Amino acid sequence: MTPSINFCSECGNTVEQKIPVGETLLRAVCPACQTIHYQNPKIVAGCIPEWEGQVLLCRRAIEPRLGFWTFPAGFMELGESTEEAAARETLEEANARVEIQTLYALFSLPHVSQVYVVFRARLQDLEYGPGEESLDVQLMPVEAIPWDQLAFPVIKDALHRYVHDRHHTNLQTHFGAIPRHPDSSSISSNG
Ligand SMILES: [Zn+2]
Repeated sequence: MTPSINFCSECGNTVEQKIPVGETLLRAVCPACQTIHYQNPKIVAGCIPEWEGQVLLCRRAIEPRLGFWTFPAGFMELGESTEEAAARETLEEANARVEIQTLYALFSLPHVSQVYVVFRARLQDLEYGPGEESLDVQLMPVEAIPWDQLAFPVIKDALHRYVHDRHHTNLQTHFGAIPRHPDSSSISSNG
């Protein structure tokens, strides 16, 4: 993956792409102040909020995938834990308060350098509604999940596994890589 940094955030100089001594990958290196600008995957934290067998989903009010459905999830902020991030995203997107229960899935998306951390969560009450990033928020039985209107392959994959597990009353932890083309998914399960 080609680094996308052009300028040094320390001194403003134009950076060079080079392999630092002792390393093996191209990095953005500042020739003026020698700062090496490392780029690493971003973590997306989310949760599947549950209430008496139903799940809380949000319809996106923002691009990408405006109008499509997802469970609450978003990029972690500095200084918070993954659980805090998942709960915060749920409050922002669905105006809902959750208690994080267990880790449900850890999915890598190497093609976009993202890692999804998905928890199961207990909805604390029935007060919820669309936040600024949502057009609609609905508590729905798993039979009503709009499979052809889900925002991203990783969301579809996580919910598919969740529904399958629930059907077999066998909720387990899932992990693996979700490739650009989800048909060749290589997800594992770890009961
Ligand atoms: Zn610099």
